[in-house]
Amino acid sequence: MLLHDCKITKVGRSLCNPEWIAVRAELSDDIGEVLPYLNAVVKNAVYTPEVQNLNFKIEAGAISLMPREIIVGQVTCEEDGVKVLDYVKRLINDTWEKRAGITPVHERKGEIKAKDILDFLPRTNCRDCGLPTCFAFAVALVKGQKRLQDCSALSKPESAQDKEALARLLQTGTTEEVAK
Ligand code: SF4
Repeated sequence: MLLHDCKITKVGRSLCNPEWIAVRAELSDDIGEVLPYLNAVVKNAVYTPEVQNLNFKIEAGAISLMPREIIVGQVTCEEDGVKVLDYVKRLINDTWEKRAGITPVHERKGEIKAKDILDFLPRTNCRDCGLPTCFAFAVALVKGQKRLQDCSALSKPESAQDKEALARLLQTGTTEEVAK
């Protein structure tokens, strides 16, 4: 078994959708080595090897994996977040057990898409960034025409987790750098 335990350290509301919460959990073990194997077996995985971050979605929520942390987003209550965490823990350990038969993928499988970005944006279409919609902003981010700082809503404390996730996806810098 690679991952023995995960302990919830934070539960916060998502700015993307006030009905969603995000559950952050600290891991008892370093899962960094399994990420390339998960990247190989999880169909819709978005892997950013430079910061050892793998994101993917399942019907029950959005999952972000780092060597010592898991964030489960887009769930409506902590109980659902715990269920998704249990699922992810099983997935990690099953994949680790079967790794001898899996060819790990050490790079991102495809380009980041605007819809991957949109999941973490406020979706209020407030136009503060100078663009008519959050989707237009997501497209501009992917093209490098806008920066995370250009979305004023992302600077709010309650959107810190979404901003961190975007920074990892876009590989724009460390948490500390984007928090400024
Ligand atoms: S500033 Fe732009 S990206 Fe941010 S919430 Fe408003 S429209 Fe959406």
